[in-house]
This record gives sequence, structure tokens and C-alpha cells, in this order.
Amino acid sequence: MSNCLFCKIRDGQIPSKIVYKDDLCLGFEDINPQAPTHVLFIPLKHIATANDVAMEDRELVGHLYTAAARLAQQRGHADKGYRLVMNCNDDAGQTVFHLHLHLIAGRPMGWPPG
Ligand code: AMP
Ligand code: ZN
Repeated sequence: MSNCLFCKIRDGQIPSKIVYKDDLCLGFEDINPQAPTHVLFIPLKHIATANDVAMEDRELVGHLYTAAARLAQQRGHADKGYRLVMNCNDDAGQTVFHLHLHLIAGRPMGWPPG
């Protein structure tokens, strides 16, 4: 997608603080962090929303979760805990339409989310 912010981050056209990369996904620091750790994990493949995840993408989505959990463990969040969030469309507050998993950690969080 030529006009996608996160595709541009993936391609290095927009700078970001990359903290994780493998052959399927990329993790980078959120520009407006909501907690001491706030990292976004995106598939290298452009997928707009959770609605657009195809059956063939199931492993890819699972991969985002394992990559995020690994970083959470590396940063020492495993015992106290962390949140993994994927917003879909307007009611959930999705603002960037390239699938992304938020890893949020380092402070207590309320539930339910606002
Ligand atoms: P969402 O609201 O779930 O679509 O999340 C989009 C996230 O992308 C927000 O937390 C933003 O702070 C973050 N964001 C927007 N632009 C950038 C950027 N250039 N680099 C890193 N994170 C960004
Ligand atoms: Zn994209």
C-alpha cells in the first residue's frame, strides 16, 4: 500500500525506533507511548484491519503475539504482566489501517478499557 504509514515505516521511508525484526514482522516504539513500554508489532505484509485477516494469515497473526510476548519477557514484564491490544475500526479507535498489535506494559492498567 503506497499511502500506508506503517508500510512506509517498514520500508524505512519514515523513521522509527525499531526494537524487533524478523522475516514476518516488525516491532517499533509507539510515537505516543501510553506506558513505559509501548511497542507496535506489524506484519510486513499489508493487512488493513482484523476484518481483513484471511485464513492463510492465521500463523502470521499468531507470530505477532509470540514476538510481542518475547519482547515483554526480555524487558522484564512477564511476571507483573502486560497488555496486547489490537484495535479494529472506529469504535475501537483504530487510526492506522495496517494491522498492529500494541504491547503495553510497565504500569497497572484498568479494565474495562475506555
Ligand atoms: P491504533 O489507534 O490502534 O490504530 O494505534 C495507532 C498507533 O500508532 C497509536 O498508538 C499512535 O501513537 C501510533 N503511531 C502513529 N504514528 C506513528 C509513527 N510515525 N511512529 C510510531 N507510532 C505511530
Ligand atoms: Zn501498510
